Amino acid sequence: MPTLFISDLHLDPSRPEITRQFLEFLAGEARQADALYILGDLFELWIGDDDPDPDKRRVLEGLRELTDAGVACKFVHGNRDFLIGSGFTRATGVALIADGTVVEVAGERVLLMHGDLLCTDDHSYQRLRRIVRNPLVQWLFRHLPLGRRQALAERIRVGSREHTNATPAAIMDVNLDAVRRAFERHRVDLLVHGHTHRPAVHEHLWPDWRKTTTRIVLGDWFEQGSVLRWGNRGYVLEQLPRPGT
Ligand code: MN
Repeated sequence: MPTLFISDLHLDPSRPEITRQFLEFLAGEARQADALYILGDLFELWIGDDDPDPDKRRVLEGLRELTDAGVACKFVHGNRDFLIGSGFTRATGVALIADGTVVEVAGERVLLMHGDLLCTDDHSYQRLRRIVRNPLVQWLFRHLPLGRRQALAERIRVGSREHTNATPAAIMDVNLDAVRRAFERHRVDLLVHGHTHRPAVHEHLWPDWRKTTTRIVLGDWFEQGSVLRWGNRGYVLEQLPRPGT
């Protein structure tokens, strides 16, 4: 049975068709898998476990049914849903794993990341990341009333959209030195990440290492789904057509 990898669904009440497709994926293909890895940005926003959004509740239930059926499910924080914590893991049975975890898939060591840490050319984003990932900042945010958190998150979302529109595409892609350091530090030849919304399989040739490493970039779910299926005969990165379109 294959191991599945997805990321960047950006589930949000404004895009119910993505939530619908994801719930069908959980009840269908994912049930036949060995394990499901979600590499961040499952949700467009996660402001706390007390978010009353009914779509989020349905997603939590779908994940709970999957893990109850015996499929291991692991989650890496994205830059949108990094506040996911113990309320989520308790409700779903999904395990949180660190950005930069190495797992074994079909006998190969594979490094898993969300991908934003590789985008080191985007200095203003990396500065913001250090602030919002600070435990004290997160503690303060979690203790604000729900309405204040929603308003702040909306401001961050607008700021992020403006930043994306104003920043050249190359700056928002991964930096090759950062990619190389990730392969080096974790002593792996395979890396899977999302975040950039540029699905592809890249072969990186490093002449001084005399070897090639492989970087698989998962796609987002805005127009259709995207899944990496990895079984004993290798892997395939595929689109999932949106039902009814
Ligand atoms: Mn992201």
